[in-house]
Amino acid sequence: MRPSQRAPLLAAVALIFVLAIVYSKRLTSPNKESMDWRSLAKQPMADAHDKAKYKTVLQPTPEQLAVNSDLSYSTLLKNVGEPEGVLTRVESDSPRANATLLSLVRNSELSGLIRTMRDVERTFNSKFNYPWTFFNDEPFTEHFKKRTRAATKAEIRYEVIPQDQWNAPGWINGDISEVSNKILLEDNIVYGQMGSYHRMCRWNSGMFYKHPALKDTRWYWRIEPNTQYFCSIDYDVFKYMEDNDKTYGYVINIYDAPQSIRTLWPTTMEFVAKHPEYLHPNNSLAWLMEDTLRPDHNTIANGYSTCHFWSNFEIGDMNFFRSDAYDKYFEYLDQSGGFFYERWGDAPVHSIGLGLFLDKSKIHWFKDIGYVHQPYFNCPASDKCRGCKPGQFVATSNMNKENCIETFFKYAHAD
Ligand code: GDP
Ligand code: MN
Repeated sequence: MRPSQRAPLLAAVALIFVLAIVYSKRLTSPNKESMDWRSLAKQPMADAHDKAKYKTVLQPTPEQLAVNSDLSYSTLLKNVGEPEGVLTRVESDSPRANATLLSLVRNSELSGLIRTMRDVERTFNSKFNYPWTFFNDEPFTEHFKKRTRAATKAEIRYEVIPQDQWNAPGWINGDISEVSNKILLEDNIVYGQMGSYHRMCRWNSGMFYKHPALKDTRWYWRIEPNTQYFCSIDYDVFKYMEDNDKTYGYVINIYDAPQSIRTLWPTTMEFVAKHPEYLHPNNSLAWLMEDTLRPDHNTIANGYSTCHFWSNFEIGDMNFFRSDAYDKYFEYLDQSGGFFYERWGDAPVHSIGLGLFLDKSKIHWFKDIGYVHQPYFNCPASDKCRGCKPGQFVATSNMNKENCIETFFKYAHAD
């Protein structure tokens, strides 16, 4: 055969080869319709994967979508000052709070972390000098330690997460995770396939406050690599929380992907039915269940609006998370397997816990803290801020519908 005659033959052989591989894969890979994996799963979890149930999904009207974010814009544009209440200044000789700046971070994220540390040190910590605590599921490198030490004059603690806090618990069934991860992929849920992402969300949901290194610490400010801080903060934010009887501070409120938490709300309701005593009389249940702005979300998430405090920024009291109400709630969720069989994020888990078990007057919007974790901003109009556009929530306006801070104002905010 001449080379010109050989080419089509080779192509045909290659095609048959590829088809054979694809076909054999189809025969051997689990198929969510035919495989009897549901019998392996706990019943509520299995039910929620039954997507046939959710075929008729309500869509919000354009009018409903337009309501979002008007109030937060107008509030942020009104020359935002410091919060009312008792404020502790740098000069004050009262003792600092029992607090730490806290990051879960990988060695590979060093440059993004340094960038954020510079922002936090410039706007806040060079004045108040709170220690940093870095957590990692593997040891930090000497290079990481050297570079981070050079970015602050404050103390830094480098902590490795014990394996039994990080790894999936023994009752997680690998076959179920495999099939359910395929469903997450079909639903376009980012990181659904990534084991470490599931572990990270679980650790942030129910483990960080139990890490031995934080045993004697009450307050934390969660700081993520690659986030930016735009405004000078001239009062002690931890003392603000303590002195004004606050438990949890946030900057951004957004909707979650409901497909990542189909059974989180039903599982939560099971827990609450078993422990009605934990429900706080002044809770934010109406906020959690709000269903007029994004009814599609409530439908897919089985009753939860998916609106949550975006937890890449949090200033909080770990005693809340250590309380029986929250910690038992986490244990219940963990037993159900949803951190691995779905992609429950720590943000909705924290938010639901706070919304149910905490007095809503103890939740504070730090509107004066200019912040971005791409793509969402909190940007106040203030001469203390540089580098963000006042009132801007997101660069592309069609994503304004992801902002749900309005509903928190409407149903929950005391002020
Ligand atoms: P996203 O904000 O949901 O896109 O998630 P990120 O990738 O930003 O992760 C959230 C936080 O957890 C960041 O602070 C990451 O540095 C950290 N993180 C995520 N996965 C891992 C991991 O496997 N190991 C460690 N040490 N940190 C992680
Ligand atoms: Mn992030």
